Amino acid sequence: MRRTAFVLGLAVSLAAISPQAQGGRGRGRGGAPAADAPVTVLKPARVFDGESMHEGWAVSVRGDRIEAAGPAAGIGASGGTVIDMPGTTLMPGMVEGHSHVLLHPYNETPWNDQVAHESVGVRIARATNHLRDTLMAGFTTIRDLGTEGAGYSDVELKQAIEQGIIPGPRMVVTTRAIVATGTYGPKGYSLEWGHIPQGAEEADGNDVVRVVRDQIGHGADWIKIYADYRWGANGGAAPTFSLDEIKLIVDTARSSGRPVVAHSSTAEGMRRAVLGGVETIEHGDQGTPEVFKLMKEHNVALCPTLAAGDATAQYAGWNKAGGAPEPQGITRKRASFKAALDAGVTILSGSDVGVYTHGDNARELELMVNYGMPAVDALRSATSIAARVLHMDNRIGLIKDGLLADLVALDGDPTKDISATRRVVFVMKGGVTARSYGRR
Ligand SMILES: [Zn+2]
Repeated sequence: MRRTAFVLGLAVSLAAISPQAQGGRGRGRGGAPAADAPVTVLKPARVFDGESMHEGWAVSVRGDRIEAAGPAAGIGASGGTVIDMPGTTLMPGMVEGHSHVLLHPYNETPWNDQVAHESVGVRIARATNHLRDTLMAGFTTIRDLGTEGAGYSDVELKQAIEQGIIPGPRMVVTTRAIVATGTYGPKGYSLEWGHIPQGAEEADGNDVVRVVRDQIGHGADWIKIYADYRWGANGGAAPTFSLDEIKLIVDTARSSGRPVVAHSSTAEGMRRAVLGGVETIEHGDQGTPEVFKLMKEHNVALCPTLAAGDATAQYAGWNKAGGAPEPQGITRKRASFKAALDAGVTILSGSDVGVYTHGDNARELELMVNYGMPAVDALRSATSIAARVLHMDNRIGLIKDGLLADLVALDGDPTKDISATRRVVFVMKGGVTARSYGRR
């Protein structure tokens, strides 16, 4: 009993001294907001709750949580702050399923040069800007899929955000990512130089067990592997890890409660990743109807990264704005994305941002719609479905009482015009306003 009294006393004094430092305001016993925590009532024109649209709803927030959501007349505001946001849609904070905050656009500096020539300090400095821009664009959670040579900086940036040192989204991190020896980059150096530092950690055979555990020990939330890469006999993408190696990676990660994500663009790499037990596949450009059927059967989600392909095609000279015909790669990507939709594969909105500008993440949602996905499904992919795929649906992804108050207001109705996801006018993360309404 004495110990309980001490713990409660400590909680009260901490709340009095530094509510922000605890990662949430007015936190009461058991993680629920205290009864006296500040209340804010948000009154948009409509609410997209992560699944469907509700005209005339309002949402109340107490402390770091959503307290209630429903028809505005039924949402009490006694003693709280009311924020009227006419014409807007309030929705859950969006999720970026595939980011690289330690990379910047390849038309500024090619990937090889970023990894080989940019110091970690400079890369972290850039990343702090990227994280702020991401949050201000309404993306309150990101899964960052590899530091690309910057060690465990993603874990450190996540800590800096959690400690309130810099603004940014919730981060799910993978640290260095794992590649099979000889498959990754940078390449192109004199062979006499021996081993060139790589953009991910090499491991093979039984050694994958040690590397998975080491990355977990350094803070990895997910384990990322490259199931194929551009190391084929003719320079094209070819599978890397064997099915047995992938199974070993997945078993090792899973026994600690961590899922595995696979980069894969070839049908065979995707097949091995699915059978090996990964939970999401990134890119999937050469996916066939058979492979997508297999993904559906094994409940593996696809992160299509349409925006990265769209960006790299333009960096390579496609004058899209000038109306130049679509390159073959883009036409093929449209077809494979359509095949994934037809097979009923779960789509996690993820763009590979870093290849293009951080904060421009809405580009993925626009392209998903442009490539044939209904707008409401694109919105679900970036909210409720994303939360489920990331095993975070007990905290984020819906506007529902008890979940974290990660909320974004957009000018307009994104189910009618998906580009409304670019017109962010308000951002709240965990009950803390990151972008005030009316201040641009
Ligand atoms: Zn990536």
